[in-house]
Amino acid sequence: MGIETNEFDFENRIMNTGYNATEDSDADASLRPKRLDEYIGQEKVKENLKIYIEAAKLRNDPLDHVLLYGPPGLGKTTLSNIIASEMGVNIRITSGPAIEKQGDLAAILTNLNEGDVLFIDEIHRLSRSIEEILYPAMEDYALDIIIGKGPAARSIRIDLPRFTLIGATTRAGQMTTPLRDRFGVILKLELYTPEELASIVRRNAGILEMQITDDGAIEIASRSRGTPRIANRLLKRVRDFAQVKGDGAINSDIANYALNRLEIDALGLDNVDRRMLETIIKFYDGGPVGLETLAATVGEEAVTLEDMYEPYLMQIGFLNRTPRGRCVTRMAYEHLGLPYRASIPSQEEQLKLFDDIPPKS
Ligand code: ADP
Repeated sequence: MGIETNEFDFENRIMNTGYNATEDSDADASLRPKRLDEYIGQEKVKENLKIYIEAAKLRNDPLDHVLLYGPPGLGKTTLSNIIASEMGVNIRITSGPAIEKQGDLAAILTNLNEGDVLFIDEIHRLSRSIEEILYPAMEDYALDIIIGKGPAARSIRIDLPRFTLIGATTRAGQMTTPLRDRFGVILKLELYTPEELASIVRRNAGILEMQITDDGAIEIASRSRGTPRIANRLLKRVRDFAQVKGDGAINSDIANYALNRLEIDALGLDNVDRRMLETIIKFYDGGPVGLETLAATVGEEAVTLEDMYEPYLMQIGFLNRTPRGRCVTRMAYEHLGLPYRASIPSQEEQLKLFDDIPPKS
């Protein structure tokens, strides 16, 4: 299937996809690491990438298409920029929802230079008809176009420069299999350890010319839910408190004071985390409860809970996803200071218990 067009005009299309991935809330370009060696953590991902980049450069080939997936704020956009600069090529940034028409993508693709990186954020949100343009582009570096309509229509193929597509997604499971299968490199970003985040905090404090003690950095890091974007945001808020309430320097006391004022607890849980856990405990006896029902009760979007809140709650062992819904664990009760009550198994589960008992002979 190709793009239908009566005019051969995409060379001249205005390439404004209305999206700029660097425009996020903590948009401080100076904090974004520029080289792979400055990118802290994600050791396995970095090691593999280094090899793929070196091999592609040795062969004088573009890097194979890369899919990066993991929760928001873990560094997918940052890593894509780094890949482009390590390869010594330009990067063109857009996102799934910003590409509305097949012609938009055709315009972007035909304007790439040999070896360039095309970064598509939230790639799982591309429409099916646009995905179909990507298949031959990714596989054969070609664009299939249908010129004219009806019986006079004919299809022509245009060669594209050899490029690298980097797709980023918070939900690889929502991507179609044909699209996922066309990525040669698939990398999963993990939540960061407090030590890794502390290194990021110390590095960024240095860039922002702030004084910070090791304890202060650890305090911020261990309350940042494994996410560099949150660590950067908290660092800036703690700086405000340090400047107004202290002498400008950040130590563990001022960090602790500021984070308490921001209602971020010792494990980094904020109001939404606590409301989510308390809702499951108080209204649904600790679960299981379906995501949509939970989201409606908490007053947040289901995708927000699933992408931004659940990964960390599951990592620290406070929440389980089961086929029947979300369940809170004993550790969460203890953290919230609520008396633990094991949820009562459903009738179906109670009956299943009998399945394991061998029949009497
Ligand atoms: P994503 O695209 O996954 O949502 P970003 O690439 O926008 O995440 O990263 C969010 C912020 O976190 C960036 O501003 C960047 O400064 C910082 N960051 C992310 N990963 C790292 C890392 N490994 N080392 C240092 N800073 C990082």
